[in-house]
Amino acid sequence: MNAPAPNFSIPASVTSFIDGSHPLLIGDKWVPAASGETLEIINPATGKVMTRAAMAGVEDVDAAVRAARAAFDHGPWPRMAPGQRARLMLALADAIEANMQELALIDVLDMGMPLADATYFSVNLSIESLRYNAGWCGKITGETVDVSVPDTLAYTLMEPLGVVGAISPWNTPLMDVVIKLAPALAAGCTVVLKPAEITPLSAHRLGQLIEQIGFPPGVVNIVPGFGNVAGQALVEHPLVDKITFTGSTAVGQQIVRTAAATMKRVTLELGGKSPVYIFPDADLELAIPMTAFLIFKNSGQICAAGSRLFAHEKVFDQVVEGIASFAQRFKVGSPLDASTDMGPVVSQKQFDRVMGYVDSARHDGATVAAGGERVGDEGYYIAPTLLVNTRPDMRAVREEIFGPVLVATRFDSDSLDEVAAAGNDSEYGLSAYVWSNNVSVAHQMAKKIKSGSVRINGGVNLDPNLPFGGAKKSGWGREYGRVGVEAFMEAKTVSVALNAGLGHSSAALEVK
Ligand code: NAP
Ligand code: MG
Repeated sequence: MNAPAPNFSIPASVTSFIDGSHPLLIGDKWVPAASGETLEIINPATGKVMTRAAMAGVEDVDAAVRAARAAFDHGPWPRMAPGQRARLMLALADAIEANMQELALIDVLDMGMPLADATYFSVNLSIESLRYNAGWCGKITGETVDVSVPDTLAYTLMEPLGVVGAISPWNTPLMDVVIKLAPALAAGCTVVLKPAEITPLSAHRLGQLIEQIGFPPGVVNIVPGFGNVAGQALVEHPLVDKITFTGSTAVGQQIVRTAAATMKRVTLELGGKSPVYIFPDADLELAIPMTAFLIFKNSGQICAAGSRLFAHEKVFDQVVEGIASFAQRFKVGSPLDASTDMGPVVSQKQFDRVMGYVDSARHDGATVAAGGERVGDEGYYIAPTLLVNTRPDMRAVREEIFGPVLVATRFDSDSLDEVAAAGNDSEYGLSAYVWSNNVSVAHQMAKKIKSGSVRINGGVNLDPNLPFGGAKKSGWGREYGRVGVEAFMEAKTVSVALNAGLGHSSAALEVK
């Protein structure tokens, strides 16, 4: 294992975990891939291979799906008393909490996010998500329904969908996996997890905790592998009832096409290009650092990052100067260094992609007000970047970069319809940010913006209790909250003729 820490010594438990083997979890067994193949796991802080993990292929995915199917059709999980399911989920939350630093470090080494962000954002939200969803076990119920035919009892049952295939990205690895697992488990489903192939390690550690706690075999199966092989096999598999996917819009569209063959249910959390609107009456002391923070944190690798700035011309120069100065002070460095604000981007591929967008914007006539360059000569570090003199037709303005790059535009219109329309001019609609101390402006904007969520003067984006998801090409359905659990269930309607026989008016109607 490489040692990227200038001022932090990695505990031996983490080093030995990373250096160990990373097999697949299928049923109650840890196994190598049937092909024997492994994935290279690279530390983005150094760009060097730090370990290898089993690479699931079609055969492994099939075995994992069959284990999940057997666990759902014949095992205790969906039949268990809801309180007992909740108890196991709460025990998993406790186990993650007890191993918080270790799990955070695994993600830091695998993905490059600063340790504090991994701990207090990704791992913490994983714990909160399990605790929140454990509370739903047994609380999502059907209802009795009055129908027009007399002497009929009608009711609905809320039933778990069955086997869930969960395909996740790499930007907050543990959380990306757990936020899918927790509601699926609460609903009574069994799960096959396909974590991103570049960041599978914390999912492996999670699997060890799941095993220790004593979840029934086959309830959770973990099969990292290439998306177009392992992910595709999961989406095609006839024994999978639902796919829950987080990732790019292009892959989401591919999943919809493939899932159509079996008509499995699909939830999609996709990309974004979220607008940030700063009005002249905004509290700039808050709006400037928060806008910088919301694009540069996690090196911009956050789906809901505010990546397009629209500032009123009265405050535009002040906002741009403030964000540029913030970008220059933002400390880019080792994710293990406590003073680091921003680590590397996740991979060489992501580095090339982000720099490609910066170069294309320069070429199209944009001006770099901050950053725009590599930091250091080892690892995938990019300086926080602010682009001005942009136009709506530039690729860097239209497309999701998923890196620490903010594009800024000024507006001078007093028409909220025009201002909202400028931000709505995007195929994405994940999140949006409004900064104004005028409540009328802020709430009118919230109604006019086409996106899954709107944060006013800070607000909150991700909370286990708050539905989250995208409009337009940013997704289908919602995660989190009650709707997030219901997305793993379906209503079955039952009706009973209480006064059976031909005299019952429903039977009489049908006989006629
Ligand atoms: P990605 O390339 O779409 O990959 C996401 C996952 O899908 C990975 O596990 C990937 O496998 C897998 N995959 C790839 N091709 C597949 C296929 N044909 N069939 C089934 N699965 C397939 O996205 P990414 O680059 O990992 O993540 C960045 C994207 O995720 C950004 O667009 C970002 O906005 C989005 N995101 C959205 C949210 C949200 O909540 N809306 C949250 C986080 C990220 P590999 O391991 O081979 O890549
Ligand atoms: Mg890695």
